Amino acid sequence: MGERVVRQIVRIDEDLCTGCGVCVGPCAEGAIVMQDGKAKVIREELCDGAGFCLGVCPTGALTLETRETVAFDHSAAEVIIAEKKANYIAQHCFSCSTSEDDRPLLPVRRAGESTWVCTRCLPSLIHG
Ligand code: SF4
Repeated sequence: MGERVVRQIVRIDEDLCTGCGVCVGPCAEGAIVMQDGKAKVIREELCDGAGFCLGVCPTGALTLETRETVAFDHSAAEVIIAEKKANYIAQHCFSCSTSEDDRPLLPVRRAGESTWVCTRCLPSLIHG
């Protein structure tokens, strides 16, 4: 069992989670998995509490909380990150189809769906 610390970590509201699975991809460390039709953080040492998953959840099931848990395990996370890189599929901007390999993408909510927008298309979304 790892060192116990008080830190920020993702909280998943099971009542709000529809099991869509959209939050799994943005979690580079693989902390979020689908189990019995719900998103779960099974290995808390893999969640760094950065909250990249929060913006993509269509139901607001994901939040951050500060509580006692195991310390974030960089070494274990790096193993997962390396495995995910081997199976990497680039996401694309919904507006111009630019790949995240060519320009940074940000998660956005649009017409009831969670999707990605590139940094070039984002200003027109904001300002019209
Ligand atoms: S994105 Fe939200 S609703 Fe979908 S699986 Fe993750 S926590 Fe559940």
